[in-house]
Amino acid sequence: LLNEKEAELRKLHNDVVDLRGQIRVAVRVRPLIKSEADASSSAIEYPAIDTIRINEGSKPGIVVKFEKVFTPVFSQKEVFANVEEFIRSSLHGYNVGLIAYGQTGSGKTHTMRGGNGEEEGIIPRAAAFLFAESRKLESLGWKFDFSLSFLEVYNNVAYDLLSDRAVVQLRLNDQTVSMIGLSEHTISNVSDVARLLRVADGGRKTAATKCNESLSRSHAVYMWKITAHQPSTGISTSCQLKLVDLAGSERAKESGVSGDQFKEMTNINQSLSILQMCISQQRSQKGHVSYRDSKLTQVLMDCLGRGNSKTMVVVNLNPCNEQATESKRSIEFASKMRSTNIGSAVQQRTLLGDVSQMSMN
Ligand code: ADP
Ligand code: MG
Repeated sequence: LLNEKEAELRKLHNDVVDLRGQIRVAVRVRPLIKSEADASSSAIEYPAIDTIRINEGSKPGIVVKFEKVFTPVFSQKEVFANVEEFIRSSLHGYNVGLIAYGQTGSGKTHTMRGGNGEEEGIIPRAAAFLFAESRKLESLGWKFDFSLSFLEVYNNVAYDLLSDRAVVQLRLNDQTVSMIGLSEHTISNVSDVARLLRVADGGRKTAATKCNESLSRSHAVYMWKITAHQPSTGISTSCQLKLVDLAGSERAKESGVSGDQFKEMTNINQSLSILQMCISQQRSQKGHVSYRDSKLTQVLMDCLGRGNSKTMVVVNLNPCNEQATESKRSIEFASKMRSTNIGSAVQQRTLLGDVSQMSMN
């Protein structure tokens, strides 16, 4: 029985290793919500299973291919089934990042947190999945320890969401970042996670009300620290899983806001373009990667495409006609992250090739 289990584990492990060092970009389009469905129609179409077309007014739509397209019919459960392998890798010693990107109202929080029951998003589903999977590995003599930390980056300052929003100092070492003062909470079951999520939600809401700030103006990072050790061999690994609900990506310049709000939005726009730049630089393997340039990339550094890390960015889109320009921008963001990879010269050509070829049809 043990041999069978080991074989199964080895196969799983190989599947997991396959995804190493990769940055994947998926797209999720939410359905039109009731109030929108009356006034608007969808600007987004699906010419193929991995392709979307965004129509902007009467202009011919741009067509883009993705590694994965979650159309509006995808349930929360189906989305999770598609990211499960990524999450599993964190039990095998990889630093894993899963990042929701998109304008405010595009479905980032729905994707990451979601609602209750069937509507649960990736974060609560990941908790149930990790505990269940770790129990399987425990029968092979591994022991797991899990702890959680929740962090918010607002106006380029990091705050601890599980410790009265205390400021967290970041210190960069060569390969890692230390988060000084960030509280770590040991957890052993899903209700521990649910309790901490409630604490974090409460803290975020209170802070948002106090400064009259929108929740969409901060990046929320849900970090798991996972330690595995095998007493019989003395082997031990430790890694991190970071699940990220980014601040809204809409442009400060065109939003019509001014003063502090404009500054907030400029900070967000900047941190998101640094994130995109870091991912491109990492993929092009040219050496320097600008992690230091923003708190967000410092926090995410160890899961952004280095040796034992992997990242998936889910670009969320609002399908409304009036949002087509912002949706196109999100798609451009996604393409830039893919485009400077050495191996991706071909990939990009394919991407662009597909675009022009399909637009003509
Ligand atoms: P964001 O976090 O990007 O600002 P939200 O996750 O809050 O956006 O989503 C905006 C609205 O759309 C919410 O009312 C949310 O419940 C709804 N929504 C988002 N994604 C979906 C989906 N896949 N299915 C149904 N409703 C969704
Ligand atoms: Mg949100």
